[in-house]
Amino acid sequence: MTKYIPPDKDVAEGRGLGQISKIVVGRGNPEAKIVIIGEAPGSKEEEIGKPFVGRSGKFLDQLLQNAGFDTRQDVYFCNVIKCRPPKNRRPTKTEIHENLPWLLQQIKLVNPKIIVLVGATASEAILKNKCQISIIRGKWIDWEGRLVLPIFHPAYLLRNQSKEDGSPLSLTKSDFLKIKEKIDTLK
Ligand code: URA
Repeated sequence: MTKYIPPDKDVAEGRGLGQISKIVVGRGNPEAKIVIIGEAPGSKEEEIGKPFVGRSGKFLDQLLQNAGFDTRQDVYFCNVIKCRPPKNRRPTKTEIHENLPWLLQQIKLVNPKIIVLVGATASEAILKNKCQISIIRGKWIDWEGRLVLPIFHPAYLLRNQSKEDGSPLSLTKSDFLKIKEKIDTLK
């Protein structure tokens, strides 16, 4: 790993996010061709200092591995918000607005071919529209010369574990296979 993505002072000061104990920057390979963007760190992420290391993250890793990805080599994980919002509440518009420049810089540095937007907050932050995640998920979108794919959030999938055809979980499994197929053609 040659790229170091440093914590940002403004984010460290946690404007709008109260007392900040830890900044959560990224995990995985900063040279990866795929960036996976979530909403914000939870308590486990704050404790360990890395995104997607709690229950949702473990489930996300499992879905990626089942689709044939190496989660240390093939992807880079980060969040729209770099510090845990108090009581795990959803980030406010102001917080998203304040954290966004840092996320955009992170994307620029990693320079992925594919961006996976995990859930509604990440999708709205990047795509700037309030489209329902159930409508846009699984659809490739051209964004600033990169391919973007919104998917359901793993926390939602953990609450909806039906494996039936057409269920959120089965749709998400096919989304990951779609990403694998696409990245293999882009290599
Ligand atoms: N953990 C993260 O890092 N981001 C999320 O969106 C959810 C859990």
